[in-house]
Amino acid sequence: MDHFELKNGVLHAEDVPLPVIAAQVGTPVYVYSRATLTRHARVFRDALGVLRNARIAFAVKSNPNLSVLKVLAAEGYGADVVSGGEMERALAAGMAPDGIVFSGVGKTAAEMRRGIEAGIGQFNLESEEEGLELAEIAASMGRVASAALRVNPDVDAGTHGKISTGKAENKFGVPFDRAAAIYARLAGTPGLNMRGLTLHIGSQLSKLEPLEAAFTKVGGLMEEIRAGGHTVTHMDLGGGIGVPYKAGEVFPQPEEYAAMVARVTGNWGVTLMFEPGRVITGNTGVLVTQVIRVKEGAGNPWVVVDAAMNDLARPALYDAWHDFVAVEPKGETFEANIVGPICESSDTFAMARTIDTVVRGDLAVFRTAGAYGATMANTYNSRPLVPEVMVDGDKWAVVADRIDPATILAAERVPEWLA
Ligand SMILES: *Cc1c(COP(=O)(O)O)cnc(C)c1O
Repeated sequence: MDHFELKNGVLHAEDVPLPVIAAQVGTPVYVYSRATLTRHARVFRDALGVLRNARIAFAVKSNPNLSVLKVLAAEGYGADVVSGGEMERALAAGMAPDGIVFSGVGKTAAEMRRGIEAGIGQFNLESEEEGLELAEIAASMGRVASAALRVNPDVDAGTHGKISTGKAENKFGVPFDRAAAIYARLAGTPGLNMRGLTLHIGSQLSKLEPLEAAFTKVGGLMEEIRAGGHTVTHMDLGGGIGVPYKAGEVFPQPEEYAAMVARVTGNWGVTLMFEPGRVITGNTGVLVTQVIRVKEGAGNPWVVVDAAMNDLARPALYDAWHDFVAVEPKGETFEANIVGPICESSDTFAMARTIDTVVRGDLAVFRTAGAYGATMANTYNSRPLVPEVMVDGDKWAVVADRIDPATILAAERVPEWLA
């Protein structure tokens, strides 16, 4: 459920007509609904209420906007961060350091040091080498770093290959059959407090079965580690639940997910941790765009919009689908291809799609663009960096400025020997 609805024939974000925002901020622009964000945060949190001891660390990479993080911090969310930059954002949003989990396969020594200084709650280690390095850094600072070991359960998540992370051939975590030995070695290393295991098998998962298989497997590993005399108090089950991008698609509901987790982990006796991203933010945003022109084609007409793959990369990266609807639909449809202005054939949002009839100057939106949208934006083709707006009832504000090509040009230097 979201708060982007037609009122008197005009698409609104909550109580704000999208043409008002487009007129004042320009297009393309991401628009987030605070009510939708809060609702998703609460539905997920409340569903996990059936578990005895659950903590949620929002996957910041899905939407790192400071105002988004502030809303989630107010809902009691911690953060799952994958870089020093994301960690600084989570701290700037007021998230408690103890509620921050630091993930990622390539944490640098500087990032680890800064994380220890800031007092972040848990490092999710992706290798033995990383664990030994973290231990050395913590010990040199006279500190102990809490950590979990990321295990690669070798389970097929059944999602797009580029967002699958839990097969043996993926770069993430340590191999399942070596995990117990690595855990034992790290648990005996000064500077480290090994407290659990973690896994994350992929994103945009449409079924619970791969998650259940992975959790069951890692639960067995937990028993093996305990039988070896080591302590496990925290189990971090990652994120990955998908969201419908096409009207009518059905995805696992948070209550079904929580019931499955309760069934699998009932007797684990640990604090459970979760790292949802897309399921919290996906539906909370749309990308508003304007039709530059409609161009005749050999087949379908080409709807050329002012948003492009640099603003919303998912279709070009993952063949992803985003519903495209007119802001003021006229009640007619036509079959068209939707493309951006960038000089790449991959700058294509849809081919042979039946969409609301649009003409030059019309506004439209790509739906379900709140996750992995603005955060992946770049300035390819010397385009501006896309701005972000948040709506709250009848209030709205720009929460990230458009960054003009001139500002980016001003950051470039021509050496004297070229001048
Ligand atoms: C990306 C990521 C997540 C969030 O994934 P979603 O599919 O957005 O829920 C969680 N944990 C880790 C380690 C990740 O890399």
